[in-house]
Amino acid sequence: MNEVKQKIDHLRRVLDRLNHNYYVLNAPSAEDREYDRLMAELTALEAAHPEFDDPNSPTKRVGSDLTREFQQVRHRYPMLSLGNTYSEEEVREFVERIERENASTDYCCELKFDGTAISLTYENGRFVRAVTRGDGSVGDDVSANVRTIRSIPMNLLGEGWPAHMEVRGEIYMPHESFDRLNAERADIGEEPFANPRNAAAGTLKQQNSAVVARRGLDAVLYAVQADAPVAGSHYETLQRLGEWGFKTSSAVRVCRSVDEIMDYIRYWDTERHKLPYETDGAVIKVDSVRLQRDLGATAKAPRWAVAYKFKAEQAATRLLSIDCQVGRTGAITPVANLEPVRLAGTTVKRASLHNAEQIELLDIRIGDTVLVEKGGEIIPKIVGVYLAARPAESVPFRYITHCPECGAELVKEPDEAKHYCPNATGCPPQIVGRIVHYISRKAMNIEGLGDETVQLLYENGLLGDMANLYDLEVDHLVPLERLGQKSAENIVRNIAASVTVPYGRVLFALGIRYVGETTAKKLAAAVPSIDALMTASREELLEVEEVGGKIADSIIAYFADPRNVAMVDRLRRAGVQMEAVQVEHLSEVLAGRKIVISGTFDRHSRPELKELIELHGGTNQSSVSKTTDYLLAGAGIGPKKLETAQKLGVRIISEEDFLRMIGGDESAPETHEVLKNQQPTLF
Ligand code: NAD
Repeated sequence: MNEVKQKIDHLRRVLDRLNHNYYVLNAPSAEDREYDRLMAELTALEAAHPEFDDPNSPTKRVGSDLTREFQQVRHRYPMLSLGNTYSEEEVREFVERIERENASTDYCCELKFDGTAISLTYENGRFVRAVTRGDGSVGDDVSANVRTIRSIPMNLLGEGWPAHMEVRGEIYMPHESFDRLNAERADIGEEPFANPRNAAAGTLKQQNSAVVARRGLDAVLYAVQADAPVAGSHYETLQRLGEWGFKTSSAVRVCRSVDEIMDYIRYWDTERHKLPYETDGAVIKVDSVRLQRDLGATAKAPRWAVAYKFKAEQAATRLLSIDCQVGRTGAITPVANLEPVRLAGTTVKRASLHNAEQIELLDIRIGDTVLVEKGGEIIPKIVGVYLAARPAESVPFRYITHCPECGAELVKEPDEAKHYCPNATGCPPQIVGRIVHYISRKAMNIEGLGDETVQLLYENGLLGDMANLYDLEVDHLVPLERLGQKSAENIVRNIAASVTVPYGRVLFALGIRYVGETTAKKLAAAVPSIDALMTASREELLEVEEVGGKIADSIIAYFADPRNVAMVDRLRRAGVQMEAVQVEHLSEVLAGRKIVISGTFDRHSRPELKELIELHGGTNQSSVSKTTDYLLAGAGIGPKKLETAQKLGVRIISEEDFLRMIGGDESAPETHEVLKNQQPTLF
């Protein structure tokens, strides 16, 4: 076959695969710069060889995020990508192209939020659904998840909105939520998200909206699609969105020349680091809506707008060595040791390399001059290698096959990016890591004992696992360096006090892989003793809210190991809580009643209502079934839940009805009326 055609086919295949990893799996397997370079190469080849044109080429279509797990909905107006520029010269070319055939015009400059695009449909001022960009024509319906984002209005304010409109914008994950989420994932042995964009996109495609609600997503809206424009200019459109209750960006500026546009870009290129969320550029849009319409769009992007991509802060330095660290779960993380270099105000000595695949993909070798970048995460990463500066004697880096700490042969599951050391009970950093997790604040909260002390106790043969903590005596500790009589007494006292920690937290403290803080709480509520948990079947575990196959299998595997069972037993003998203590109920008015909550409420948050249900003897259910007694419905209730409830004759009650039932609403008439007369309040 023709050599050019072969090259084109190859690039199309590679880009399709990268798109899938990025948009569907939310786990990019290449750096953006590498992706952009391949895309530019393919674009140039296709331009030079129009005979190989193909409308399905990745240069002609937006990268698709469609998955099989969601219902697909057709966009009434297509959702496109944006053309990219990287320099003042390219911005100038964009402006010249627009003004060549048109009078000079204003440009509305905005920040380019680094999240995932969303289209929100409103009918008569009420939220109807939220759909992802998908392939630009059809997207995934993620309404249930988007409803959990508090800044997205379910009912619009003000007036003057079109009867039917699609409001477009970006769903993003603020830095604070991103850091918290990745810390939690590291805690339970999950691969961290590569950046806030992937975290936002991955969260939006979760099957359980309770998980989405906890992850702290936010949204900013920047466009309206309707049969007639809502204003004459883009800037005014943004004002309308604000009046209707949408969150819009305050960093918007109307510019009249390339110089003004460049001032805007330069200002935000440095100021953006102070923002609590990630931005990866600016977007320059023709302000006149009429001119926008005249300019139109290609199949991939509008002609009236362009993105300017900020350059990430980078520095070149030498890679001195690669350490492979072993985590609490046995996961191996390669870390690069670098010749110290200044980057974005700090000195960088180490950078993350993520996993073996990353090293191989970039062909990173010891001795290479590498490009280090600070992205949306705290730890800098290596994004490229200067091949021209590679020493002649350099050899490809051979990834380790055995654990650097205990020598065990590493394993790698086909669907995981990381290698693992399987020697959980014999590998020192895993043993120490588990004890450190056990004593941590969110787990048993044993103060006075830090990572270093645990390490010291382990090295002195005083701690082999977490149960050994309860065998420690003051006399054992005092002779150790750095520990005086007082701190030794303190430690022993705090360990003894930890036996009052409730069972839900003990379950988290055990460090069962994938069992995070919330899952542990849910498990403790649904399966209230460790004995019941040990004998629970996979099916029983799957019935617990938030427990999926991966978590269920991990729990079963944990208790299948007799060493874990023996250790739990020693903890129990030391007095550690191994069953849930019944919380005293405020009343029993809801005893035996099963309740599902859906929507948002005026007086209480959903977690508060759930707690109230339990405190009054009721049980929370996550989905409506024959066994459900009430559906407690708030604004924006899930239509599926409502429909099922109506079909099954489940009684639908409002927040007021509920508060009356439990006697919490002083202004309301007779308590328990609703229960007595069995009349549902439909609305
Ligand atoms: P894009 O992210 O470059 O730009 C288009 C998107 O910008 C829109 O869909 C919208 O979601 C967003 N946006 C944010 N703020 C906006 C604003 N104020 N106004 C309008 N839109 C705004 O384009 P894309 O098609 O989503 O993604 C392509 C890029 O993604 C590539 O250039 C590359 O950097 C990256 N990518 C990387 C890989 C990889 O393997 N690393 C794979 C695929 C894509």
